[in-house]
Amino acid sequence: MKAAFLTGPKTFELKDIAKPTVPDDGLILKVEACGVCGSDIRRWREGPPPGSGGVVPGHEAAGIVLETGVDCRAFNVGDYLAIAPDVHCGECYYCRRGMFNLCDNLKFIGITPGYPGGFAEKIVLTGEILKNGIIHRMPEGLSFEWAAVSEPCCSVLATHNKTGTKLGDTVVVIGAGPTGCLHISVAKQRGAKVIVSQRSKSRREMVGKFKPDMIVDPISTNLVEKVKQFTNGVGADIVICANPVAETQTCAVEMVRKGGRVILFGGLPKADPMTTFNGNLIHYGEIEVIGAFSYHPTIHKLALELLAQRKIPADQLITHSFSLDQINEAYKAASTGEALKVIITM
Ligand SMILES: [Zn+2]
Ligand SMILES: [Zn+2]
Repeated sequence: MKAAFLTGPKTFELKDIAKPTVPDDGLILKVEACGVCGSDIRRWREGPPPGSGGVVPGHEAAGIVLETGVDCRAFNVGDYLAIAPDVHCGECYYCRRGMFNLCDNLKFIGITPGYPGGFAEKIVLTGEILKNGIIHRMPEGLSFEWAAVSEPCCSVLATHNKTGTKLGDTVVVIGAGPTGCLHISVAKQRGAKVIVSQRSKSRREMVGKFKPDMIVDPISTNLVEKVKQFTNGVGADIVICANPVAETQTCAVEMVRKGGRVILFGGLPKADPMTTFNGNLIHYGEIEVIGAFSYHPTIHKLALELLAQRKIPADQLITHSFSLDQINEAYKAASTGEALKVIITM
């Protein structure tokens, strides 16, 4: 079967590898669609973990169960499944308290060596993954491409549960990549007004279809001033940093209102993860700076249902699709900002 290995920075090699054997307690999923994530792009730039010899990425996958092991009871051949990357251990301090996304021993499909991902014709879901991973049956009528979008929706939905985004709030979304667009859509549906900041012109043009109340180019305009004007000098209730740029986190603290919340949604580059804040704004203004990472497994089922109910505009989000052979082109498109969500279909 064909699988795309990330073997170096910005380098994929399509390899023909032996068909996997089904584990007794697991199954083989025939991958139909798998999304390219912002975090995939970051790792693509960095290359695979040293000494790994290459990894098969892809953690936003959906497909059909091809084969089940003799002891696999959870799913049947022919089931349509969507998967998310997290596999928790079930035993650590956090798992025992149900905070699975904070598990000390978290493994990620398509990221952790030994957990090959969905940029392949088939993916093995081991017993461990079936037990402690995030896998749900797709609701009827949902396409594989849309099901692949369920994963990025999850962390967005979890974030707004955490911030309690509500009617009348002003939310600033910094970064109008695919997840930024999902933030706009979810915040609008929760009744908030949304200001979006985006450097790239092509993405500013694309973000209009998600109907933000204001689109700002932070290069030519002062975003902090714009937000203050929009909110009669008060500042935003919630600022979501949905990009991997530390300076925008610094700025976020300056545009949020007193008692408001700044969400660090995007991870920073591994080699340069430091960030700075005006500590006095946080102290005197009682600003909450909150990390948001991953989600509880149940959110994945909710995301699939919302996609099936067309509450999440996946059709507007998916702008490009490529075949597995075109994976290098797919990553290029996803990294340039010309595309929003890029999906690989098998
Ligand atoms: Zn993702
Ligand atoms: Zn754990």
